[in-house]
Amino acid sequence: MKKFADLGLDPKLMKAVSRLDYKHPTPVQEQAIPPILEGKHVVACAQTGTGKTAAFALPLIQRITRASRKKAVPHALIVVPTRELAAQVERVVSIAALPYEYKVRLVVGGIKYKPQLERMRRGVDILVATPGRLLDLIDDNHIDLRHIQVLVLDEADRMLDMGFWPPIKKILGTVPSSCQKLLFSATIGNEINKMVGVHMQNSVKVEIARKGETVQQIAQFCMPVEHSQKAELLLALLGGSTAGKTLIFTRTKRRADVLARILGRNHIKCQAIHGDRNQSQRTRALKDFTCGRINILVTTDVMARGIHVDNIDAVINYDTPVSPEDYIHRIGRTGRAGKMGDATTFVSPEEMSAFRDIEFLMKSVIPVKDIEGFSYKESRIIPPDTRLAVKQKAKPFQHGRPMRSKGHRR
Ligand code: AMP
Repeated sequence: MKKFADLGLDPKLMKAVSRLDYKHPTPVQEQAIPPILEGKHVVACAQTGTGKTAAFALPLIQRITRASRKKAVPHALIVVPTRELAAQVERVVSIAALPYEYKVRLVVGGIKYKPQLERMRRGVDILVATPGRLLDLIDDNHIDLRHIQVLVLDEADRMLDMGFWPPIKKILGTVPSSCQKLLFSATIGNEINKMVGVHMQNSVKVEIARKGETVQQIAQFCMPVEHSQKAELLLALLGGSTAGKTLIFTRTKRRADVLARILGRNHIKCQAIHGDRNQSQRTRALKDFTCGRINILVTTDVMARGIHVDNIDAVINYDTPVSPEDYIHRIGRTGRAGKMGDATTFVSPEEMSAFRDIEFLMKSVIPVKDIEGFSYKESRIIPPDTRLAVKQKAKPFQHGRPMRSKGHRR
């Protein structure tokens, strides 16, 4: 195993590494940091949870020079798909940049434009931004990107999915063509490859989490169930497990709200977080979840992309994700940084075909988990080639919290 000291980081950054409390580099850090320090374009196929933020944040800081003070002329630009992710990236970058006294600024949508602008005008070395708000700044001539030395496109596949490709193209056309570009993405499809061919020639490719090979740290299960029994099954599952910090995914915002209400009525402390919630509601829900005031967060795919909470013990797909890529993104919230996680997917008969696609992508049969004593409707479909079945007993809640059972495997 390599050490951070072997990667070519300067001593000031080594201080940042110890401040972040990282002992050894993760594989993506080991592979991406040296070529980034050499000034190469890097295309990294790595999903969240692999340590990708520090993989670009640390060397980026070493690459840039300080920008002129009191001007909105940054030297590094990090573009990310969501506000929550932007805030998390800014946190890591700020810690790492501390010994250099670099000014790290955040511009994201959903909060007031003017204060962000004023902060940025007081000087900015490194800008972390979401594409929409950044585009506003460019269009209003409030920012000068002509001195960008390093551009990072983080979670590029999700930016593409979210319709942010036009702003990204504009950003690529605005920064100097000679600037170093770093692209991080869980999947690299045609569109991204095309962009890399045009803007990132001779890039170094780093591949950490290939599709379907990403999740050794995660125990995956499926629970075949009739659509109409999902809520009942979830209550039984939460009642019997030691789930701990759990992220629950629904297909739509409405279903997230409805489910959060059902859980609330059953004395399970939880909150829903999705695109219809305003910024302060989202921030509060995330804070409550992070600090353990609530153990359950109900969310949707788009929102989840920005959730980087450490120590998520379990992911429950209340609705089977429509695309296998979303499945990988969802379950990637747990099993991070060397810890084990559980991912359980509810599969109704209507969802069985989407579930098959997931198993195909994962190149594995996902075992069925059943709850003993739960009266399943006869019409549920159990996948015929399930090799292993795991039984779990339902237990009642105590004070709205799942009870710990002895002998659980974590
Ligand atoms: P990321 O993929 O950047 O979202 O990082 C996932 C999690 O891994 C975050 O909680 C980081 O703090 C943590 N992490 C990143 N790099 C390391 C490392 N070298 N050692 C231990 N934890 C790390």
